[in-house]
Amino acid sequence: IKGPGVQAVQDVSLFIKKGETLGLVGESGCGKTTLGRTILRLYEPTGGKIIYDGETIYDNPLDKDGKPLGKAKAAKMLPYRRKMQIIFQDPYASLDPRMTVSSIIEEGMVIHGMYDAKRRQERVYELLELVGLNKEHANRYPHEFSGGQRQRVGIARALAVDPEFIVCDEPVSALDVSVQAQILNLLKDLQRALGLTYVFISHDLGVVRHLSDRVAVMYLGRVVEIGPVAEIFSAPRHPYTQALLAAMPRVQTGRQQFAAIRGEVASPVNPPGGCHFHPRCPRAEARCAVETPVVAEREGVRVMCHFS
Ligand code: SF4
Repeated sequence: IKGPGVQAVQDVSLFIKKGETLGLVGESGCGKTTLGRTILRLYEPTGGKIIYDGETIYDNPLDKDGKPLGKAKAAKMLPYRRKMQIIFQDPYASLDPRMTVSSIIEEGMVIHGMYDAKRRQERVYELLELVGLNKEHANRYPHEFSGGQRQRVGIARALAVDPEFIVCDEPVSALDVSVQAQILNLLKDLQRALGLTYVFISHDLGVVRHLSDRVAVMYLGRVVEIGPVAEIFSAPRHPYTQALLAAMPRVQTGRQQFAAIRGEVASPVNPPGGCHFHPRCPRAEARCAVETPVVAEREGVRVMCHFS
């Protein structure tokens, strides 16, 4: 998809299994947030197909060059909006400061015509308990809460409409490190208790490793490697995944060691030809600048590189 202020994402094909967490990682500008929001159709795709639980919710076939062939057929999103929710990165910006926590959490239930007013109020209290807050918090305003508590409110708001699938868009990156683990554990517990499916977007590989079953690594709008979390972290095959892992801070003799990835990320709207990673890749050869690598699958891991 392309548009003003929106990163381009292309040639991406993903499936997400019920009940799993798919981590989506990459440097900023790689298109992971765009992809997450496009799955929910918060950003309208320009072509391709989205199937949710067997139902096609967007369909605009592409030709062999990746260009849309015709006009999109798109399902009405309201029923899917209830099943598919998002938790935003910034709990400060995503909660309306003029609304009480109770009305923030209740809003989705009102939109979707769920329950009568009395039951909705009970449900608000239940949800507050579920996310580790309590009834007394219901009539307060967002500014009265800490960052971690606000993110709990954001989670309660997403859960209010009984979703099945949640895109967690960098849900802990605006929080203090000490609070991050509490929110991650809460998300994990909720997944187990409610049978939720997550797409978990983060630039922090440590966080993704902790939470995900499978990981998709994105670079300039393409998924360059995808596979089970253990495989990706123990034996990364794509040179970009290898570089990302090498750049991860690790504790060695009490000091943090960093190995930066060389070069800058190019513009996603006008990426380099061939393999987008070629200007930064230590293994690049002449064909990498002109030929787009095809995706090859081996032992459950899909890699987009001529030499992997
Ligand atoms: Fe590097 Fe070439 Fe592989 Fe791209 S296709 S990751 S440039 S070796």
